[in-house]
Amino acid sequence: MTTKKNSTSSQRERCPKCKSVSIQNLRTGTKVGATVGATAGAIGGYASATAGATAGAVAGAAIGSFVPVIGTMVGATVGTITGGILGALTGATAGTAVGATAGKAIDDNILDNRKCLNCGFTWHKD
Ligand SMILES: [Zn+2]
Repeated sequence: MTTKKNSTSSQRERCPKCKSVSIQNLRTGTKVGATVGATAGAIGGYASATAGATAGAVAGAAIGSFVPVIGTMVGATVGTITGGILGALTGATAGTAVGATAGKAIDDNILDNRKCLNCGFTWHKD
């Protein structure tokens, strides 16, 4: 942290216990929320995209039945895998955003979001 002279230093947030100004801003909920959201989103995205890809594969297979069987199989497989991966990525991205937002709300309202680096005390600041 800076050691510059600063006349507004009295405005700085201080530890309620030891009055130290060495305070860390905790974002536990945001981090956890983003991770959980990404995982849930990836799973949900993969599952729904796979279901969609399966439907697409069936339709593709019907059309592809005019073509040799191998073309149908390759098309269905590639469609399913690609759809699943894209779905997982899309779901993870959306899930991260949703989870981080939910986690930030928890940080802001529930969890201790300040930690004193001097004495280790944690507390909640609105
Ligand atoms: Zn302290």
